[in-house]
Amino acid sequence: MLSRRLEACKSERREYEQVRVFTQVDALLAFLGLERSQLPDLDDEPESFGLRVPRAFAERMRPGDPEDPLLRQVLPLAAERRPVAGYVADPVGDTAAERAPGLLVKYAGRALLMLTGLCAIHCRYCFRRHFPYQALGPNQTHLERALEEIASDPSLTEVILSGGDPLMLDDDRLDALIQGLEHIDHLKRLRLHSRLAVVSPVRLTARLAARLTAGRLASTLVIQANHPHELDESVRLALLDWRAAGVTLLNQSVLLFGVNDRVETLVELSERLFACGVLPYYLHGLDPVAGSAHFQVSDVEARRLLAELRTRLPGYLVPRLVREIPGAPAKQPLE
Ligand SMILES: *Cc1c(COP(=O)(O)O)cnc(C)c1O
Ligand code: SF4
Repeated sequence: MLSRRLEACKSERREYEQVRVFTQVDALLAFLGLERSQLPDLDDEPESFGLRVPRAFAERMRPGDPEDPLLRQVLPLAAERRPVAGYVADPVGDTAAERAPGLLVKYAGRALLMLTGLCAIHCRYCFRRHFPYQALGPNQTHLERALEEIASDPSLTEVILSGGDPLMLDDDRLDALIQGLEHIDHLKRLRLHSRLAVVSPVRLTARLAARLTAGRLASTLVIQANHPHELDESVRLALLDWRAAGVTLLNQSVLLFGVNDRVETLVELSERLFACGVLPYYLHGLDPVAGSAHFQVSDVEARRLLAELRTRLPGYLVPRLVREIPGAPAKQPLE
């Protein structure tokens, strides 16, 4: 098992060194054998949130398929520029919930800490695509204040490391931060919300898993996969290693038109997650962030999908269908 994992890592690293990440639409299309004429609504120069796709993720796309569900998640479209009523820059009230720069407290006992604005991949549906990350300052300088704020509130028992993507920080930086959190007596749990786990599974180092499980705080990794094709063998082996090390693994998805809005896809996603040692947690209704309207699935359709999913899967493989309502004390069930 370990040697298989090592081989998978080695070959992935080699490829990573050639074209690590696609940032040009033309290069990605050439890699996939696609013509521009097959994608009439392309946007070549999105203003601030450009194309960004690691090679390892692009390799899981079907060559020659303009409708590929992984491609759809990352390809900038002109539709993003068209204003749609109700689609705004901060759809979930993040700025109003900020207690210190990068520290959000919306729900009882839980604080969400943004470590960085950086991500390995740019997901077009991202609800934080317009978040003013510059205000966090360079090199995680905001973290010290955030830790003081967490230490001063004994009602907090869980810290969620988020971003951007918290795994963009290297193991040493994460280690230092986790040490700081472990010194805060009222904390019991640590959660990492990361898309890198799927997009670039080499980032799931054995060292970090060992650090998490040896630490005082019970740790959970919440991955973000929307489609079963995202979970290839390299992802499965990396996740199984983390699970074997003792990290609890959950998944959250966003329900996306043209990506995962079919019962068959959602069934396959849950089954594949389980094979990777991961339980489905949330299926989020899309947050109405400006530029994402073309991904919206209606509530009626979402409920229909979930009702059907329930007839197809054991209860523990059915995610909770939720939506975030600004100001609400929890994510709201949509069913
Ligand atoms: C979603 C979210 C959480 C986590 O909510 P859970 O229901 O515990 O998964 C915590 N804090 C913030 C600010 C969030 O947006
Ligand atoms: S990885 Fe997460 S934070 Fe980054 S663009 Fe994708 S959804 Fe947004």
